[in-house]
Amino acid sequence: MGQAGKGEARYRQAFWDEPLLSELGRKGRLGFIVPEDPKIKAWAASKAGKLIPQALRRSGDAPLPELSELQVLRHFNRLSQMNFSVETGMYPLGSCTMKYNPKVSEAIASSPRMRDAHPLQHDSTVQGLLQVFHELSEMLCEITGMKRFALSTAAGAQGEFAGVLMIRRYLRDQGRADKNEILVADSAHGTNPASAAMAGFEVVKVPSNESGLVTIESVKSKVTPRTAGMMLTVPNTLGLFEPDVSEISKAVHEAGGLMYYDGANMNALLGKARPGDMGFDVVHLNLHKTFATPHGGGGPGAGPVGAAASLQDYLPVPMVEKSGDEYRLDYARPRSVGRLKGFYANSAILLRAYSYIRLLGADGLDNVSSLAVLGAEYLLSKLDTQGYSIPVGGGIRRKHEAIVSVKGGHGGAGKIAKAILDYGVHSPTVYFPLTVEEALMIEPTETETVEALDDYAAMLNGLFKKLKAGELEDEPKNTSIGKIDEVKASHPLTLRVKW
Ligand SMILES: *Cc1c(COP(=O)(O)O)cnc(C)c1O
Repeated sequence: MGQAGKGEARYRQAFWDEPLLSELGRKGRLGFIVPEDPKIKAWAASKAGKLIPQALRRSGDAPLPELSELQVLRHFNRLSQMNFSVETGMYPLGSCTMKYNPKVSEAIASSPRMRDAHPLQHDSTVQGLLQVFHELSEMLCEITGMKRFALSTAAGAQGEFAGVLMIRRYLRDQGRADKNEILVADSAHGTNPASAAMAGFEVVKVPSNESGLVTIESVKSKVTPRTAGMMLTVPNTLGLFEPDVSEISKAVHEAGGLMYYDGANMNALLGKARPGDMGFDVVHLNLHKTFATPHGGGGPGAGPVGAAASLQDYLPVPMVEKSGDEYRLDYARPRSVGRLKGFYANSAILLRAYSYIRLLGADGLDNVSSLAVLGAEYLLSKLDTQGYSIPVGGGIRRKHEAIVSVKGGHGGAGKIAKAILDYGVHSPTVYFPLTVEEALMIEPTETETVEALDDYAAMLNGLFKKLKAGELEDEPKNTSIGKIDEVKASHPLTLRVKW
């Protein structure tokens, strides 16, 4: 029995606390062995000492773990079972737009003719792909009211960086290099001030009012002759449409500045309103949020940048050009801010966005926004106001996300978010936006059923009761890894295992 007990403990450990490959390995274990090719061996011998400089060469074998093929397979399969995705359960992670991604887009993006295209192929051999990119950029122009779109930037943050660099170059060409301040709302995503600072601007914070809105008065109080532009998110991170946006655009333009639209979350505006019509000059979109690409855990992404006519020459290269029936990548654009990404773009994401837009059409996209807003508002209406307060919004309806504050303070939002994990669904974003105390930011997206929204709201209401009764101290209990020490997880930070 004693022996069996030990074995059992090992099985439990193997499932709940998956060891690293380096811990599983034993010397001399082998997986698949690639037969040696004499021709390659001879070629390598002829190049010996020429390909890799001596100083960079390893003196012995790399200390890699030695394992059987089956061990490796089981390891990764077990890890995959600890994973959570939108295909496992509801994933209302506010601001991330974790919607269901249609399988047909997946099939198109991973079809061998698309997947196997090599970035070094000549333009003439990838005409189909280039045509898709060109058409996608035209569709994004129509959706946003921009003149041209560049697709190469690989994330929202990179799109922002490209956009503010474009503003900088444009102003320099106008002889206004002295304009070096960018206004950013205090409710903005942290990438906004970071992008502006990286592009060499001074960041001027514009406070939002007690309703969470940026008013024309607060913008005017920050505009100076050195204002280069303003970055604005609409709807803002509180899910509120900024009612003063057109007046704000006007004021910034009158001061000789430009307007940047953070369009990471376009899910409430598709088919309803266009940043171009609100006076924005540069825009980025997160295709991996609004236009359906699975991206939990940090990637992959595509953050294309769009520009109004006055700024189109500054877009990053390469651009897809069409002449007659031929498409080509154009790198020779003298005013461009240059190249920001290796090769062309995250093409699989562009393909998914293209098929998603084609699949839905203009009416379908409009419907996406209606349903996304309806879903968020419905969920909000089901929450118990004893436990959750809705931060003020000046009477303006919420758009695609429901932001609530957990009453009572004392880390309640964090405790509820941890406890949610035991229910087989994902938690909302917590403690963001920073302007809301004990914030839960719930973004159900348009792809959840009304039953799923009912269940989620009922769960949140039940959890508040448990929180109040002091029952949420050690959750989660049923996940592969229980409550973790968050301070210890990042300090000291151990990112490398030595063996
Ligand atoms: C997600 C997000 C970003 C950043 O996008 P990444 O692709 O993560 O770099 C910027 N702004 C807003 C409002 C966002 O929600």
